[in-house]
Amino acid sequence: MEAASASPFASTSPATGEALSAVDATPISSIDDVVRRAREAREAWAALSLETRIETVGAVKQRILARAEEIAKVVHEETGKPDVEALLGEVLASADVVSYWSEVLPEELEPVEADIDALSYPSKIGTIHREARGTLAVIMPWNFPFALPLRTIVPALMVGNAIVFKPSEITPRTGKLIVDLFADLLPEGLLALVQGGGEAGAKLCDADVDLVVFTGSPTTGRKVAHACAERLVPCALELGGKDAAIVLADADLERAASGIVWGGMMNAGQNCGAVERVYVEKSVAKAFVEKVIAHTKALRVGTDVGPLTTAAQRSVVERHVEAARSGGGQVLAGGEACDEPGAKLGYRPTVVTIEADANPLVADETFGPVVPIAEIADVEEGIRRANASRYGLTASVWTKDTVRGEAIAKRLRAGVVTVNNHSFTGAIPSAPWSGMGETGWGITGSPLALDTLTRPRFLLVDHNRAPREVWWYPYTDTLRKLALAFAAIRGGASSFGARIGAIFSVLSLMPKRMRELKSGRSASPRAELEKPAK
Ligand code: NAD
Repeated sequence: MEAASASPFASTSPATGEALSAVDATPISSIDDVVRRAREAREAWAALSLETRIETVGAVKQRILARAEEIAKVVHEETGKPDVEALLGEVLASADVVSYWSEVLPEELEPVEADIDALSYPSKIGTIHREARGTLAVIMPWNFPFALPLRTIVPALMVGNAIVFKPSEITPRTGKLIVDLFADLLPEGLLALVQGGGEAGAKLCDADVDLVVFTGSPTTGRKVAHACAERLVPCALELGGKDAAIVLADADLERAASGIVWGGMMNAGQNCGAVERVYVEKSVAKAFVEKVIAHTKALRVGTDVGPLTTAAQRSVVERHVEAARSGGGQVLAGGEACDEPGAKLGYRPTVVTIEADANPLVADETFGPVVPIAEIADVEEGIRRANASRYGLTASVWTKDTVRGEAIAKRLRAGVVTVNNHSFTGAIPSAPWSGMGETGWGITGSPLALDTLTRPRFLLVDHNRAPREVWWYPYTDTLRKLALAFAAIRGGASSFGARIGAIFSVLSLMPKRMRELKSGRSASPRAELEKPAK
């Protein structure tokens, strides 16, 4: 029997403070068996046609939509996010994910014929296939506990993988709901649930999985990468962000202010792609900040902006705002914890003007409803400061000149850049979501996500009826001369005439080489092969 340990699971709602239902932890000692059963279930699943798998998994879309209110309620109780945010960002976004992959996978998984040079490699047909990776560990955070797991689980199952899914210990009930939605659709054990905290996640990385898909903090991401390196299995890491918005003097300030307030405060700022830094051109800074303050002060805590999901997260926000205060920042709205109906662990939506980019509020991921704003002399300063971050997830540029906006966007060090918007493209299933630096290297969304969820298999069928290939044994002087002639034809010849000469050489050497191959003997003595070319 395993020693009893303190429950890792969140037990009260950050929205109401009321007790949440109890959750059973998966015994650590059973995780290897869970993985083994998933692997066994996969064999029959992978043997089904793609169409059957798409249809089977696709049936979950109707279940998601039919149970929309129940899903939003569970997500709201566990995370505290407003019910409407759960409906838009979790329920509808997930249904879109199912539709998208059902539609694009048949074409995306079609084998592609490789372009093979018929002169060098005669009568060969090569095709590139995408095969499922195998059995995946999917380890997820709590901030979008329904949508984030599904954006991987849905395509991963459709392409033929088995999944062992570990939701965050903060949102285990939403995790269970996801697996329940697939009940009776999938073979037993194919989509397995592991409930627990870091210990369960670590055990899963050490188990017999073929890939770990991880979303979470850089600190844990490093541990996952180490564990996967030990086993030499790949991992996809989607980690934190500290996303910048650059507001140019010609921006529509009303749209920029309200878009940035939404991008910074949505999900109480607990969004890897939230606006966490704003750089605004000096000439419009005053007018812009006034608008941001007005929009922020209009937000209703508990209705528009939910609570922080955990007390630990609220402490980080408090610490960062205090650091900004003592580092010369001006808190112009909010700046304090609160306890409002619907937001037991609330923090007032906050606007801070601060110039010190090294301050923790500007340098580190805050993950809270705080928008720090700094003035810039010009766009070059904005680009430089925006790019000076160890993270690189999303960024935005706000300007009426969209051509210029696009040119600036291309200079920003971020995986997703939006002009005149921020932070919503994670909900578009055809858009790749990825980052750089300490944001990791995972890609979800778009067919590019298939590079994670599948591996290539190159399949070559040789229709060449000749007894031997030109490059097979024996190695002879003729073969050597042929190789040099090919090098000349492919660009090594010093002149056009030399190239024509090389073509004639190939034509005359080839029959000789064929005779050598037929006889299986070199037409020339070994010493000749070793002579340097003239
Ligand atoms: P976290 O790293 O604390 O936990 C993430 C998951 O890892 C949880 O399920 C946790 O139980 C598990 N875990 C903990 N220790 C582990 C270990 N040693 N081995 C394996 N798994 C382990 O992150 P969090 O607090 O849940 O999530 C917030 C973070 O996630 C933020 O940094 C945020 O930016 C990031 N995030 C990134 C994206 C993205 O797409 N880039 C999306 C959402 C959240």
